[in-house]
Amino acid sequence: MGAQLRRAKILSTVGPASSDPDTLRALVEAGSDAIRINFAHASHEQAAPIIAQLRDMARELGRAIGVHCDLQGPRVRVGALSQPIRVAKGERYRFVPEGRAEAGDPAGAETAIPMTYAGLARSVGEGNRILLDDGRIAFEVAGVQGAELEVVALTDGEVKTHKGMNLPGVALDAEFVTDKDRRDLEFARSKHVDYVGLSFVQRAGDLEEAREEVGGEALIIAKIEKDQALNELEEIIRLSDGVMVARGDLGVELPFEDVPMVQKHIIGLGQELARPVITATQMLESMTQQPRPTRAEVSDVANALLDGTDAVMLSAETAVGKYPVESVQAMDRIVRRIESQTAPRPRSRRVETERSQVQQSSSAAISAAAVEAVERLDASCIVTLTRSGFTARVIASQRPPVPILAVTDQWRTYNQLSLVWGVQPIMHRGEVSYDDMRDAAREEIKRLELAGTRDRLVVTAGVPFHVPGTTNMMRIERL
Ligand code: PEP
Repeated sequence: MGAQLRRAKILSTVGPASSDPDTLRALVEAGSDAIRINFAHASHEQAAPIIAQLRDMARELGRAIGVHCDLQGPRVRVGALSQPIRVAKGERYRFVPEGRAEAGDPAGAETAIPMTYAGLARSVGEGNRILLDDGRIAFEVAGVQGAELEVVALTDGEVKTHKGMNLPGVALDAEFVTDKDRRDLEFARSKHVDYVGLSFVQRAGDLEEAREEVGGEALIIAKIEKDQALNELEEIIRLSDGVMVARGDLGVELPFEDVPMVQKHIIGLGQELARPVITATQMLESMTQQPRPTRAEVSDVANALLDGTDAVMLSAETAVGKYPVESVQAMDRIVRRIESQTAPRPRSRRVETERSQVQQSSSAAISAAAVEAVERLDASCIVTLTRSGFTARVIASQRPPVPILAVTDQWRTYNQLSLVWGVQPIMHRGEVSYDDMRDAAREEIKRLELAGTRDRLVVTAGVPFHVPGTTNMMRIERL
């Protein structure tokens, strides 16, 4: 038998520390399955060559590499400041819409701090807190005057230009897809990116609004980072194609001690609804400065894997850290070790999607039968011939104990499966027929030494092939 395939996937964020072609290549070679570009920071001019290089590398290396773009979403930020504003605990300040003449005057009495969203005063009230810089600077709203907020600083600190604000307990009434998001989406669509991450989802309706704008190609990842999203979590997950436990903002919006159980809840629900879950942020944070992770960080990654996450994400570690490649190597090492010592934990077999009932139930039934067959026959692999990737995702959500080889003739599906737990995507360029595609899987199984010649394979397929979402058959084959 060959080397054990890693089952959980690694998503690495590209940034100034890793966007040069050599480092980007090294991130992929070290084990990143997909690369995240964050439009809160990256421009289109920066993103375009990165995407082009990733597409070239996928072809050259014969490997699926997902391209994931995060939209900034309706994040409220501090406006432009000519210099930082020092704030002192107990002093009063005002948040005023950006563009007001006196905003940002650091000498003014009750200094005005500009904010990017003019409508914030409609959503907040006395007693609400406004947090900046990951919660290190806090204000309490003392009153609302028209479009301005009177606040009292709860901490000392230095307010810097364009810092994001967190507003625990506040439901923003801002439009969900902003003009900037629309421009970023137009760019993302022109590059045929595989995943679009939606930031600051608050309600299920946000997903409906965004899906219209994203169009039909990219899969939508709902980033769970607002406390409001937890009230409609199941519906939000059902309307998305995957979710991210965005612990950076979530851990500021919620008391930080709530994050571990919320993480378990989101991962469990994602698995039940067959939506891949990405666990994100600060997983190996100390590696931004040091070449080795702390023991606590290693345990955090292990915990997310034991919770059942599909993918783990690196953000600052690979985007701005001193050791981007070492961070991916460390993540790869940790995942492999944990997977070599634990068996995947299957969850309930409830699978629901927004697809039509018939497609949904036949795909779910075949997937459940395939996993059952693997267990009864002690088969070595599941092979799924898939056009949209849907059945591969459903099979993966049931956490079978064997590799899932997903054979597809679609580039988009191939790269989109990069983030799905346990799936080895195979791009098939030959004739699109059951025999040809099964044979492509056989070759890959032999190449990777995943099974012996007498071993059984469980194969699922949909006939006719050109109709996505029609998985309707299962066969037992020998290698
Ligand atoms: C997060 O808040 O954890 C997160 C992933 O969001 P971003 O990195 O886009 O701020």
